[in-house]
Amino acid sequence: MSAYNLFHTALFRMIDFRNGTGIYRKLAQLKKEQYLPPEELQNLQTRRLREILPHARDHSPYYRDLWSRRGITVDEHFHRSSLLQLPLLRRPDLQENWKHILCDDAVGHSPDASGGSTGEPVHFYHDRDYAAFSTASRLLFQDWMGIRSGDKTAVFWGADRDLKDASRYDRLMLRLNRVKQLNSFAMTGQAVAGFIDVINRFKPKYIYGYASSLHHVAEHINRTVPLAFRPVAVRSSAEMLLDFQRDAIEGAFRTRVYDFYGSRETNNIAAECPTHRGLHVFASGRIVEVVDDDGHPLPAGEMGQVAVTDLTNRYFPFIRYVNGDMASVKEGLCSCGRTYPLLERIHGRISDMIVVNGQYIHGEFFTHLFYGRPEIRQFQLVQETPTDLRLYIVPRTDEVDVAFLRRAVIEKVGPGVTLEIIRTQHIQPTAGGKHRFTISRLHDNT
Ligand SMILES: [Zn+2]
Repeated sequence: MSAYNLFHTALFRMIDFRNGTGIYRKLAQLKKEQYLPPEELQNLQTRRLREILPHARDHSPYYRDLWSRRGITVDEHFHRSSLLQLPLLRRPDLQENWKHILCDDAVGHSPDASGGSTGEPVHFYHDRDYAAFSTASRLLFQDWMGIRSGDKTAVFWGADRDLKDASRYDRLMLRLNRVKQLNSFAMTGQAVAGFIDVINRFKPKYIYGYASSLHHVAEHINRTVPLAFRPVAVRSSAEMLLDFQRDAIEGAFRTRVYDFYGSRETNNIAAECPTHRGLHVFASGRIVEVVDDDGHPLPAGEMGQVAVTDLTNRYFPFIRYVNGDMASVKEGLCSCGRTYPLLERIHGRISDMIVVNGQYIHGEFFTHLFYGRPEIRQFQLVQETPTDLRLYIVPRTDEVDVAFLRRAVIEKVGPGVTLEIIRTQHIQPTAGGKHRFTISRLHDNT
């Protein structure tokens, strides 16, 4: 540990103590809880549910009415295994009812919001316990990766909005935390070369960003000159990390990539440990179920919808919240010794899945199909209706074998589907700077 690490830790411990935020107390707790025997971990979750659920019953008009209409009792005898009996909270429920989900004892807090790719944004609130868990679980994850408090960090983020809007306080924090933000939104070749110069001089120990941004930078490094330093860890988040992206990023940065999963509504849900055999759910604060469309749990290995229960936020209870992501559960315990349960992988957003003939096909199938075809610079497959697909391609050369593409896509999706192939100059990233390989208009409001 360097002198700066010690200074940084001491400073932030002092701030935590002065503000009474309880972050380091929570971190010490999480460090123990991650190794609890599975049964004790379940008991811990049961105890937390016995605080969160009766509070929701007494203070959230939405849950009070919903549960009473359905004759559901939540009390101090509630058990973790009974969670399945509670109804799911879907995104449209959240959009319609957020004012009634908010607990009547939540005061003096401004709402956070997350926008769908279409439709009105949803609003929600976070309490102090949520905030403490959020920072503590981030520090815990950094500990898994071997990153110390105050280590130099470079961020490849999708949008520059955050930096431009930064207050003086935020800028001071960036300097204290030794964070360099690089706006990777619509990166050009020249800009990427510039970023690589910056990080070669800065030599961060820790690099994080969107999977697609990191991949973009990694490809540039792999094509040109090796990096002049070797970071301790790279974290990929906010997008599904595809295998080919992981390979390219690990090759370029000569270190392991840690996949991280969270959302705006309930951040810090799961992350990889040094074993890289799935993502550990931060079970001290989150319960994750993988369910089918009716809310029934799916067996390990089967892809389904993520339902998150937040064990930390009393102001705005998220109970079995189906957030629009797809994942699969991994059976058994991790060899690292941590008992936090495992997700096998995150498959992306349901709105990024093509659904044909009752089958979910995620972007990765198509990236495998197109990746390594030098004549295609970029692609995006859009499902307009259950039977209409549009494939947008940005060709690099004139030698695009359209007949082959058509055959390959139709073979995967099956009969009864119309495919239109459209050549274009540019595929626009989302407002947040993410590239979507596949888009389903069937689920685009999720
Ligand atoms: Zn592990």
